[in-house]
Amino acid sequence: MADFGGSDLDAFRTEVRDWIEANFPKSLKGKGGMMMREERTEPTPDMTAWRKAMGEKGWGTPTWPKQYGGGGLTPAHARVIQQELGRAGAYNPIGGMGVMMFGPTLLEYGTEAQKQQHIPPIVKGELQWCQGFSEPGAGSDLASLQTRAEDKGDHYIVNGQKIWTSGAQYADWCFCLVRTDTTKKHEGISFVLFPMTTPGVEVRPIPLIAGNSPFCETFLTDVRVEKDQVVGPVNGGWTVAKRLLQHERSGLSGAGGGGGGRSLVKLAKEYV
Ligand SMILES: Cc1cc2nc3c(=O)[nH]c(=O)nc-3n(C[C@H](O)[C@H](O)[C@H](O)COP(=O)(O)OP(=O)(O)OC[C@H]3O[C@@H](n4cnc5c(N)ncnc54)[C@H](O)[C@@H]3O)c2cc1C
Repeated sequence: MADFGGSDLDAFRTEVRDWIEANFPKSLKGKGGMMMREERTEPTPDMTAWRKAMGEKGWGTPTWPKQYGGGGLTPAHARVIQQELGRAGAYNPIGGMGVMMFGPTLLEYGTEAQKQQHIPPIVKGELQWCQGFSEPGAGSDLASLQTRAEDKGDHYIVNGQKIWTSGAQYADWCFCLVRTDTTKKHEGISFVLFPMTTPGVEVRPIPLIAGNSPFCETFLTDVRVEKDQVVGPVNGGWTVAKRLLQHERSGLSGAGGGGGGRSLVKLAKEYV
């Protein structure tokens, strides 16, 4: 790609427009709202092709560093991509908690090895993440969480229960808050990562009265977590968690990504 520095946004807009025209499957036009719904369906071949194209281009995470597969672009360039997606009736197929909250936090607090392992699959939309923060006794007062991680030398053994884990039944990995020091409150929490396929992870979707299950209970029984999957300092997880929650809040209030820059009226019509 050419180096679009400074004010060369018009040339970039043309490139984006042409690329979307060449790559966005017409069958998906105006279907962005589907990405925002809670129930999941098997992706069609066109959906998969679109996710791959955007993922490989890095335009699903336009401002993330190029070295991990992101677009390496400025926020102004990212806005052009969003506008052009909206103009074409297209949408950004790269999303979820990995993009909205975990990725930006890992880019700030993760080790180089953690970034190399976890950021590229998020950029390509290959892996989904879930958030293991809330517990039955730790909601608003999140720092009272009791899920325990015991130090076993080269790894931790985690026991406890999480609740309201959105999309846990579809997730590949979990970013999770655990207690590594029982003598302190905020300063006894660590931020850890584990695959949802780890033995001892049990997910139970919570059926809502409407019939769907956007949230789950997640039970953790003797779950092994490798020490190289602690993000930030041991017992320093509260700082990392607060940063992630900032990303969560701004992601939810921004909310443009899922809609692909389309107007609210259009979105409302689709839902009706
Ligand atoms: C759509 C959605 C998705 C979610 N997804 C996830 C997820 O993926 N992962 C995850 O970990 N969590 C998730 N949560 C959980 C969410 O973070 C918790 O619901 C939140 O932390 C509140 O906890 P709680 O439900 O236990 O409420 P509580 O803490 O029990 O609060 C209940 C009520 O009491 C009030 N209250 C609490 N303490 C006080 C006080 N000291 N003084 C006065 N009033 C008080 C609160 O304001 C609230 O109105 C999700 C929640 C929602 C709504």
